[in-house]
Amino acid sequence: MPPTEAKKTVAPAVAALPERYDPAEIEVRWQQRWDEDPELYRAEPAGSGRPKYYVLEMLPYPSGQLHMGHVRNYAIGDALARYMWMQGYNVLHPMGWDAFGLPAENAALKNQTPPREWTLGNIAAMRRQMQRLGLSYDWQTEITTCLPDYYRWTQWFFLRMLERGLAFRKQSKVNWCPLCATVLANEQVVDGCCWRHEDTIVEQRDLEQWFLRTTNYAQELLDGLDQLPGWPEKVRTMQRNWIGRSEGATVEFFLDPTLAERSDAGKATLPAPEGFVAGAPVDQNADRIPVYTTRLDTIFGATSVQLAPQHPLAKQFAQADERLAAEIASLVEEQKKAREAGDPAAIDKRGSFTGHYAINPFSGERVPIWVANYILLDYGTGAIMSVPAHDDRDFEFAKKYGLEMRIVILPRRTVEPSAHGKRDEPVLPYTEEDSLLMNSGESNGQGCQEARKKLTAFAQEHGFGQPTVTFRLKDWGVSRQRYWGAPIPVLYCPKDGIVPVPDDQLPVLLPEQIEITQQDGSPLSRVPGFVNATCPRCGGPARRETDTMDTFVDSSWYFYRYPDAHNASAPFSREKIDYWFPIDQYIGGVEHAILHLIYSRFWTRVMRDLGMIGNDEPVTRQFSQGMVIRNGAKMSKSKGNVVSPDEMIARYGADATRMYVLFAAPPDRDLEWQEDGVAGVSRFLGRVYRLGLRYREAVRARASAGTAPTASPLAQALLRKLHQTIRKITRDFAGRWHFNTSIAAVMELVNEITAAEAGLAEMPPEISAELMATLLPSLILLIAPFAPYLAAELWHETGGDGSLLRHPWPGFDPDLAKEEELEIPVQVNGKLRAIVRLPPDAGSEDMQQAALAEAKVQAAIAGKQVVKVVVVPGKLINIVVK
Ligand SMILES: [Zn+2]
Ligand SMILES: [Zn+2]
Repeated sequence: MPPTEAKKTVAPAVAALPERYDPAEIEVRWQQRWDEDPELYRAEPAGSGRPKYYVLEMLPYPSGQLHMGHVRNYAIGDALARYMWMQGYNVLHPMGWDAFGLPAENAALKNQTPPREWTLGNIAAMRRQMQRLGLSYDWQTEITTCLPDYYRWTQWFFLRMLERGLAFRKQSKVNWCPLCATVLANEQVVDGCCWRHEDTIVEQRDLEQWFLRTTNYAQELLDGLDQLPGWPEKVRTMQRNWIGRSEGATVEFFLDPTLAERSDAGKATLPAPEGFVAGAPVDQNADRIPVYTTRLDTIFGATSVQLAPQHPLAKQFAQADERLAAEIASLVEEQKKAREAGDPAAIDKRGSFTGHYAINPFSGERVPIWVANYILLDYGTGAIMSVPAHDDRDFEFAKKYGLEMRIVILPRRTVEPSAHGKRDEPVLPYTEEDSLLMNSGESNGQGCQEARKKLTAFAQEHGFGQPTVTFRLKDWGVSRQRYWGAPIPVLYCPKDGIVPVPDDQLPVLLPEQIEITQQDGSPLSRVPGFVNATCPRCGGPARRETDTMDTFVDSSWYFYRYPDAHNASAPFSREKIDYWFPIDQYIGGVEHAILHLIYSRFWTRVMRDLGMIGNDEPVTRQFSQGMVIRNGAKMSKSKGNVVSPDEMIARYGADATRMYVLFAAPPDRDLEWQEDGVAGVSRFLGRVYRLGLRYREAVRARASAGTAPTASPLAQALLRKLHQTIRKITRDFAGRWHFNTSIAAVMELVNEITAAEAGLAEMPPEISAELMATLLPSLILLIAPFAPYLAAELWHETGGDGSLLRHPWPGFDPDLAKEEELEIPVQVNGKLRAIVRLPPDAGSEDMQQAALAEAKVQAAIAGKQVVKVVVVPGKLINIVVK
């Protein structure tokens, strides 16, 4: 709506204000006014002079209905945004929609509604709910990831990554959810199950897929976590563990081609072949078996080499050995089952001797080669050296099969006899770093670290190894065999191979009105008009990629679009990003700690390396709010414990609903839903409303007359309470966001004001209407971040001008906010003898002195010896005498 019309609706005309607090009437009236004012929540452009503040809540998936978890997330962000506006910041507070994804397709199957229609309908419904809640979003910057003006840039980024080798195709084992009928990223597999279907076991399939090379940034993603003190430690720890850096070495064992018959079932090692020289294979053509280890210092204790059942060498052995081939097949099957059960490490370890031996490159000793079901091909090199004496898993395996165990490190603590005169014998297996090497040739007597360094250097020098860092983080599989996502912008040409779609042909539009089924791969592959295309290189026929991108791709960069949401020639202009980024405060659920919050940190680095932005990290401060619980479980449709925000708003109003979710628990903790609580907050807001109306005229009159408040003790006490409340809320916003205690403090203030009203009738009056007129405007400002509708109504009714967002947050006078003196009991041997009056910040010394100065205390201790004085600051002094 044009701004001129908004100006006309200045004061909503109300004939006679009812005494009853009617939130629906007040809120709908103000909502309409706010909706009609496009400037209200609009951020100023860069260079406005005010400091910027970018506050953001994670964008929701448009399911069609807000739930209480959303309300909580947005109420926190909205309180902060309003507060920062009042603190004079240039605030950017946008909202958008993570609008691609499976539910739209499933709904299409169920209701015969096209995904686009279903999604846009849901967005409209949820936007209405957000507006009804009075959330301060600038809808002019709204983004919707499923619309072409957004996803063309998602595709554009994909092409930039393709050019740099950061997007690539490879055949690999991938996670497959049979219910989603698509591939999933590692991050989307939770305990072996689909993140969307927590009871559905994810299968492993061999497919050729598109990946983004997140591993290129593994080290930087890890290091960056140290520079994010504004992130919860929990989230940073989760990311560190997910990235999973480990430092070690890769060394090569040599296959001994001379020994290939099963002599002793592979239980013992054999001495080095004649003429062995460390680091040199006996036969230059022998196969090499690289193994990765973090404990190269224990290599002299290796008594076998173990291969993953899919290892190429294992396959080679199996070709000439039917028994082994059958064994390997069952090991593969066991491993697959264990993976699908969610915890491959918990597998019942089984293996089989191959009949072959490998030469330890340091000792020349020949160790049997086994194939084992707990060795994963895609971890490390797919082969390990097994050191049963100093590794838990190796020990378990060796014990089961009776393999040799050899001790090669000795903990320092066991070298010297202990105080009891007995040596502290270690129990196998042990891994203690603070050990010395033994049975290790020339390394004997070295410490573990020293030995690792020297052995690694030796291996490198002789060409059979090198230091190696590995990460648990894998590249991000982004292909999805589903319809409702951004098409991957490449073509396959019989002559030219993979051909990127030229930039000027973007977006690759997702065709509409197509038949959606979950069978036989991507629905797009059955749309000839989409699949059949022309190769931009040779002009011949080409086939379009029919996989779409994971929806987490869309949300990896969305917050860079808000500051420049309508840019038609680029994803955004750098100037705007340089001004607004990094995001000052990001708020969302902890369930995104690994998924979205790692992907977007990766994407940020890619954009930086493209020269598009200057920041390394997207977010300075991250906050993860707790869940909303009811009857002991997270609210969810399947548990039948959902409370609808619409219902709460209809019954108690948006202000009460919002204020309740902030009041019921600290924002980082789980919140146990109690409808009584909402009712209570609503009653409180009613009291504030009536209080405001009672002094409406006094406030208006004071605004013109500027009368000073009275100086009676009661008046002073009220002013003190006001300034203490301001101080508390101001500090909470800057600190730990204990909005629950902030709101409790406002409630206390209101209680004191109401109780003091009796003083108006005293003769002479203890307080004046003018004093009330001083307190009320501040009270209104204090509730504005939590209950914006009521605050706006009372502000307007008491003669305030313009939006509260443009009104400065009230300051506090530190002298006025000082506590009154406390009454502190003084005991002698536990018996109350006196009361002293002290300021609450009095130190122990002062308290002790004051107590000992009391005449009654002096009398009680006369002639006795003071043993000690117990001082509990602010509470109690107890003097112990004998
Ligand atoms: Zn699934
Ligand atoms: Zn071509």
